[in-house]
Amino acid sequence: MEKQNIDWSALDFSYRETDKSYVSNFKNGKWDDGVLTSDHTITMSECAGVLQYSQSVFEGMKAYTTVDGRIVTFRPDQNAKRMYDSAQRLEMPPFPQDRFVQAILETIKANESWVPPYGSGATLYIRPYMFGSSAVIGVAPAEEYQFRVITTPVGPYFKGGAKPIRLKLAEFDRAAPRGTGHIKAGLNYAMSLHAIVQAHKEGFNENLYPDSRTRTLVEETGGANIIFIKGDTFVTVKSPTILPSVTRRSLEYVAEHYLGLKVEEREIPLTELPEFDECGLCGTAAVISPVGSVTNTVTGEEVVFKSGMEKMGPTIKKLYDTLTGIQMGTIEAPEGWIYEVK
Ligand SMILES: *Cc1c(COP(=O)(O)O)cnc(C)c1O
Repeated sequence: MEKQNIDWSALDFSYRETDKSYVSNFKNGKWDDGVLTSDHTITMSECAGVLQYSQSVFEGMKAYTTVDGRIVTFRPDQNAKRMYDSAQRLEMPPFPQDRFVQAILETIKANESWVPPYGSGATLYIRPYMFGSSAVIGVAPAEEYQFRVITTPVGPYFKGGAKPIRLKLAEFDRAAPRGTGHIKAGLNYAMSLHAIVQAHKEGFNENLYPDSRTRTLVEETGGANIIFIKGDTFVTVKSPTILPSVTRRSLEYVAEHYLGLKVEEREIPLTELPEFDECGLCGTAAVISPVGSVTNTVTGEEVVFKSGMEKMGPTIKKLYDTLTGIQMGTIEAPEGWIYEVK
């Protein structure tokens, strides 16, 4: 199939419509069969549950062209499961996990010409989401829902190489101890926008949230988990209030089985930050963004990791190269990680 005539390497991370989206509706207690549609708009009640009480959950995934020209996606079963869990927490009828994976593969296939070529640095970003579509005015779950999958080509996350970013120790809280921090819901993002706009104004790239209860432990940023390197150990956060990142869990596996590192998933006190050699944020969008420093703007203290502010640390770089190699087909993948579209 002919690819779209696009300057792939000039794409940024913004939305543009592709050919088809997938849509399935939940009505009278069941999900319908689902279809691919060219209609990129939604018509629904002005009183829809999602508009009144933010009943929505989502996922973020990518499709790539491998070195040998196959179109693949990465561990969609993990996103299917996470969206299932997210939906249950918000009293939404979960979309069946096998149908989720099928819908993702169908949608990628229908937008094949939009999957960027190997080596362009660009990928097809996939956004599955679900929301309460029927009218709700008294506080209650909606009765009708829509599950939708949209796709959009996005450029290389790092234009001109991956420069380490600066984190601000957040002055706000992200996730309450028994709240919704562990699910992928739009509401977690709505309330993080003020903090991120503030941080940007102050010259930081992201907020690093401490745990809300004690404010002494590292949690994650608004949209990415955090990883550290200390000698030959890969250290990451164990907490019930962070989002279980598919990228982070994959990196733990890569660290242990491909790079021979020790892996620790545990509580990380803020006071330990100066002891780490390297730091990175991980998520589907960037895979890993190297972190140069963390600043406490209240006390004025700043921790600069040993890898410095100029380039990705060597171990984070190896992790990045190995995981992206697995995704692009240049390094053999663990069984079940790569789903082929064609
Ligand atoms: C989506 C997300 C991540 C990254 O998860 P991946 O599955 O790796 O994309 C991390 N933290 C939060 C809060 C997120 O919403």
